[in-house]
Amino acid sequence: MEKTFIMVKPDGVKRQLIGEIVSRFEKRGYLLTDAKIMTISRETAENHYGEHSDKPFFGELVDFITSGPVFAMIWEGENVVENARTMMGATNPKDAAPGSIRGDYAVNVGQNIIHGSDSTESAEREIGLFF
Ligand code: UDP
Repeated sequence: MEKTFIMVKPDGVKRQLIGEIVSRFEKRGYLLTDAKIMTISRETAENHYGEHSDKPFFGELVDFITSGPVFAMIWEGENVVENARTMMGATNPKDAAPGSIRGDYAVNVGQNIIHGSDSTESAEREIGLFF
């Protein structure tokens, strides 16, 4: 069965949105198979976001994702990688549709509440990195 890696970022944890996010995935019909609260090391953050290492926002991104606890999860079910991305909404909340997680709870691209793997290959890599 397909799996994906989903993470509530430090802003989502601070704003007490873990329950809301878990609830949306459960109601959609997905199964939570592992989860933990953790604080990410800089090394893990730099590895996780390695594809963005040459971008101007990389330093801020690593600072932010290591700034407080995150809630890391593995979700399982049919088409979960693609459907989770749709449920999350566009990367920049200004483009995220109302009804999506970012469209309902975020306004800023740097603090956009949630991460979700963008492919089954990324999901496998990210699950290996965090679990
Ligand atoms: N990001 C940012 N500024 C940008 C683009 C991205 O701060 O101009 C951050 C944003 O938090 C995003 C993360 O970098 O979630 C990773 O970017 P990606 O393009 O992989 O988006 P995602 O897969 O998270 O939608």
